[in-house]
Amino acid sequence: QSKREGKNRIRFFRKSMLDDIINETKLVQGLKTAIKNEELFLVFQPQYFVETGKLRGFETLIRWKSAEFGFVSPMKFIPLAEKNGMILQIGEWVMKHAFLAMKKIQNQYDFTGKIAVNVSAVQANESGFVGTIAKILKETGFDPGRLEIEITETAYTNSMDQVREMIAELQSLGIVVALDDFGTGYSSLSYLQQLPFDLVKIDKTFIDKINFDLQSNKFVSTMVSMVHQMNIPVLAEGVETEEQKAFLQLKKCDMIQGYLYGKPIPIDKVGELFNNSNDKEAN
Ligand code: C2E
Ligand code: MG
Ligand code: MG
Ligand code: MG
Repeated sequence: QSKREGKNRIRFFRKSMLDDIINETKLVQGLKTAIKNEELFLVFQPQYFVETGKLRGFETLIRWKSAEFGFVSPMKFIPLAEKNGMILQIGEWVMKHAFLAMKKIQNQYDFTGKIAVNVSAVQANESGFVGTIAKILKETGFDPGRLEIEITETAYTNSMDQVREMIAELQSLGIVVALDDFGTGYSSLSYLQQLPFDLVKIDKTFIDKINFDLQSNKFVSTMVSMVHQMNIPVLAEGVETEEQKAFLQLKKCDMIQGYLYGKPIPIDKVGELFNNSNDKEAN
């Protein structure tokens, strides 16, 4: 009896692995035509200064609405695009469209706040990476001083020296460089110590646990104060409750982003956001 169960389990496991491979292959095929078929679009999530409550800018997040698969999460298709090299094309698409969309908002509402774009390590490892960004900035006429590049510490094949060099090049163009998902990776601390970030984003997993227990609170407050001691401002991501916000305010966290303030929204909704408030100031 148990032997048979064991066999079944093995067969089941194999079948699901095969399914995964088939699904992946289909997704990759779909992704290859997603740009051409206009299935990709961008959403923007507002970020606010804690002290003044003013709008600071937006993080750009990609969405894929596939005719075949429906909505596919970026957590699923970005890694696939990284494996298949498509991330380079997608990354350029994201930047171009984010800049164009935000230029329209600037013209209509005088909004000159920051616009953050996530960049995959696979993109950043490319030698032409900074040049590509400079080219897209020039073509779209977008102010480099308004651009923030978010990088995570994962999957860098480049050496620490090369990553440092790349960050310096971005900064020399006036671009702001943020460390995303701080605290989740193996090398968060060496990254913070060795690379000159302009901003650190504390990962949602830490924010989630605020007021869950004393230990978690101490952890977040230590993270904030450690980054502050390096003279780097801190943004908390994934803030969902007033309690979390109050705690972060108390700990002098500089900026905040999360469902409590606003979900990621398409560009027409960004326009409505300005129509419905006087909050056009930013820096
Ligand atoms: P991320 O850059 O850390 O983005 C934060 C994620 O948390 C986003 O998920 C956002 O929608 C979500 N989020 C923000 N506030 C809250 C909140 O209060 N509660 C909850 N439950 N979630 C919140 P999303 O859009 O699904 O993106 C997931 C990840 O996919 C991103 O993590 C980023 O690593 C990647 N990604 C998204 N867009 C791009 C892109 O254009 N290029 C690249 N390379 N990666 C991207
Ligand atoms: Mg991000
Ligand atoms: Mg993040
Ligand atoms: Mg992330």
